[in-house]
Amino acid sequence: MGSGELYDVVILGSGPAGCTAAIYAARAGLRTLVIGGVAPGGQLMKTTIVENFPGFSEGIRGPDLMMEMMEQAKRFGAEILHEDATGVDFASRPFKIFVRNVEYRALSVIVATGAYPRPLGLESEQRLMGRGVSTCATCDAPLYRGAKNLVVVGGGDSAAEYALFCAKVAEHVTLIHRRDRLRASKILQDRLLSEPKITIIWNSVVEDIIGEDRVRGVLVRNLLSGELIKVECDAVFIAIGHKPMTEIFRGWLELDEEGYVITRDLVKTSVEGVFAAGEVMDKRYRQAITSAGFGCIAALEAIRYVESIKGR
Ligand code: NAP
Repeated sequence: MGSGELYDVVILGSGPAGCTAAIYAARAGLRTLVIGGVAPGGQLMKTTIVENFPGFSEGIRGPDLMMEMMEQAKRFGAEILHEDATGVDFASRPFKIFVRNVEYRALSVIVATGAYPRPLGLESEQRLMGRGVSTCATCDAPLYRGAKNLVVVGGGDSAAEYALFCAKVAEHVTLIHRRDRLRASKILQDRLLSEPKITIIWNSVVEDIIGEDRVRGVLVRNLLSGELIKVECDAVFIAIGHKPMTEIFRGWLELDEEGYVITRDLVKTSVEGVFAAGEVMDKRYRQAITSAGFGCIAALEAIRYVESIKGR
């Protein structure tokens, strides 16, 4: 690994999409570099137990799953760099990827930098993350089966889906939204409003999350009256939107208005030879297994692309 070195494929990101792409690309004999980030492994590094990734009947800890994926990629010869890419040049061929002043060259690139769930910005949220605070109800709500109350924050499709999902496992769900109207699609709103287990607290924000070692409740401020109430709960699911990690691709790749990479044929970006996989391009499914699937597809496309340019 050094400045100016040429790789068949450089993969940006080391979550399920990036690691799966690396396993496929390296195993196919492509010289593969993963620029995995200073905090490698993606969002699963912040979760506790993952129960819905096929192959682990008893579940697996998120960090353990990601370590296994990285080891698997390394076994086939992928090199993994624990640094953040700081810039790209997708106009030159080979493509250039920069890590500060070090330059890597690549015949093809797979963008798998993911999307960050937006945080509320509370100290208690950070402290209790993985101990009752979660940004993925699909992943974590089943851990709270039978809970008396679960809280969901937000008013979009994700919040509506999370609340409906939580209602399947808990006795009651409290949805807290900052306005008097939901942003979620009509069909989800209808389902939400007709679910007797769900109560919506309107015009309100979570001011603090209560609990020392685990979540015990939330403090909720009504934005109109200023009133502060305590809502007891076992877990808080935060669904206030995501931010795709695409700043360094702005101007190089076509992005949508929210900053997600626009793809066609599943993983092809606006630049031939640059592919995108996982939550950086998928805001609908957002599961480790779907990201891994996109990573696999991106690698298969990159392999085909590299073979085509080497054969020219
Ligand atoms: P979103 O649509 O951006 O909604 C975010 C929600 O969080 C909004 O209701 C917003 O309030 C609220 N919010 C934002 N910042 C907040 C803060 N600091 N404190 C409190 N509340 C805050 O995000 P999303 O629900 O994750 O959806 C993202 C995209 O994925 C959308 O395009 C959505 O349609 C799509 N999606 C689709 C499905 C599906 O089709 N089944 C499922 C999930 C997501 P305001 O309303 O006041 O702005």
